[in-house]
Amino acid sequence: MALTFEHVTLGQRVLFGSGKAAENLAAEVARLGAQKVMVIASEFETGMARVVATGIEVALWHHDVVMHVPVEVAEKARAAAAEHGIDLLVCVGGGSTTGLAKAVALTTGIPIVAVPTTYAGSEATNVWGLTEAARKTTGVDDAVLPATVIYDAELTLTLPVELSVASGLNALAHCVDSLWAPRADPINAALAAEGIRALNQGLPAVKADPAGMEGREQALYGAYLAAVAFASAGSGMHHKICHVLGGTFNLPHAQTHATVLPYVLAFNAGAAPEAEKRIAAAFGTAGALEGLLALRETLDAPQALADYGFTEDNIPEAVRIALPAIPASNPRPVTDANLTALLTAALHGDDPKTLTDL
Ligand code: NAD
Repeated sequence: MALTFEHVTLGQRVLFGSGKAAENLAAEVARLGAQKVMVIASEFETGMARVVATGIEVALWHHDVVMHVPVEVAEKARAAAAEHGIDLLVCVGGGSTTGLAKAVALTTGIPIVAVPTTYAGSEATNVWGLTEAARKTTGVDDAVLPATVIYDAELTLTLPVELSVASGLNALAHCVDSLWAPRADPINAALAAEGIRALNQGLPAVKADPAGMEGREQALYGAYLAAVAFASAGSGMHHKICHVLGGTFNLPHAQTHATVLPYVLAFNAGAAPEAEKRIAAAFGTAGALEGLLALRETLDAPQALADYGFTEDNIPEAVRIALPAIPASNPRPVTDANLTALLTAALHGDDPKTLTDL
């Protein structure tokens, strides 16, 4: 078959080096010629941020970070940036912190240098998200793509194992979902496959030795590849479902992705043989679902949406909102009935294999 595709590579500088965040940030701030830097980090992340920012002059510290970026929180940060004449945003933290920096960049055009401390991957995408009246809206705008990402695996050492696992499986979901997302192409598939391989190697190492740098570096490297693949391929069925669960029902982001992924993989795999083979090869297992389930067992992964506050009563509303958002190009047709069955299985933590031939 002829190889024909259209692929967009986003322009971004990436500096990867353990123990080098402060040095790399100082060099980037100088290179960009920034005069008024606003550092965004949640209260909890501030300790890390202060260490990372040791070599730069900070005009404004901003700590008011809330998951899924409520509009009011974004407005406050935008007003603070305007008031102080900020010309560079530096975010140090997880996806929520990066998300707030993106919300400021969206309306002001101020560039971002992102220093991620989880495996969420928002730093490598041009996707923004805002939540208003319990509805999460996402959009794409190159203004929110950080100009530079500074990866330092030492910053992830404090991420508890449970959160490392959930966040790492969130990254894995970027890889898997990108294989059938609307703009899936051979380039993002190659990145996704290498992301799966790196995460499958790194996450068990993190679980076995949370203080070991090798596992942390592999996991962070895999998370970056995952995010690049996701940014290029777009949101597939998995992300559309999880956005509704997070935005409307306020479920925790990483844990929700970690829980839902095996159900979406089980649901789609039979209808997406190429993706299935690719995922299996990346895991080094005979089947894709087999590889994911084996990894999840090693990691003692999150099991059921019920553990995060989702209930049977929420399912009809979740289906009503998610169903029209799922891309028509999804390999397997999604209906009210089979999406209800998928969410019911994920709610209870049932065996994902029950979804293979709904
Ligand atoms: P998060 O940023 O909410 O962080 C989870 C918790 O971990 C927080 O309490 C945080 O303070 C803490 N934390 C962060 N780094 C830590 C560290 N090194 N050690 C210890 N604790 C640490 O969660 P997340 O999963 O990183 O990000 C989720 C958010 O990111 C969601 O809102 C999601 O929609 C968004 N996101 C957006 C994109 C995109 O492309 N726009 C992609 C992925 C995720």
